[in-house]
Amino acid sequence: MSEVDVEGSCLCGDVRYRARGTVRGFYHCHCSRCRKATGTGHATNLMLQAAELEWLDGAEAVKSYRLPEAKRFRNNFCARCGGPLPRDIEPLGVIVIPAGSLDSDLALRPEARIFLDSRADWSCGDDPIPGYPGYQDTDRE
Ligand SMILES: [Zn+2]
Ligand SMILES: [Zn+2]
Repeated sequence: MSEVDVEGSCLCGDVRYRARGTVRGFYHCHCSRCRKATGTGHATNLMLQAAELEWLDGAEAVKSYRLPEAKRFRNNFCARCGGPLPRDIEPLGVIVIPAGSLDSDLALRPEARIFLDSRADWSCGDDPIPGYPGYQDTDRE
């Protein structure tokens, strides 16, 4: 398991963060919630466990939308520019980082596509990394 220590920011730069932890997964997620939250074919999320998330700047600008019917799905974003930001999944001690918000270089590459059964016909998804109909492992919900 690799450890990462990364920094990132939103589109306008008001919000900056630092995240540290053990890599739990790096996925392209094709679920409909990620599509709506990002406006793109899939979200690319880096998931860290035993993780620490620190707002370096603009903590007051971080807004959160919790989907009422979802067990855990939440979307964090900048109040000014709407850019997606990391969120913690509290009961799991996991942090989900929208990879596009990262400013640090990352040596890792996405390991899988998940929720491929929800993939939009127009989205990418025919590359050689594996795809799963839901989560990659049942213990990784
Ligand atoms: Zn912003
Ligand atoms: Zn998703």
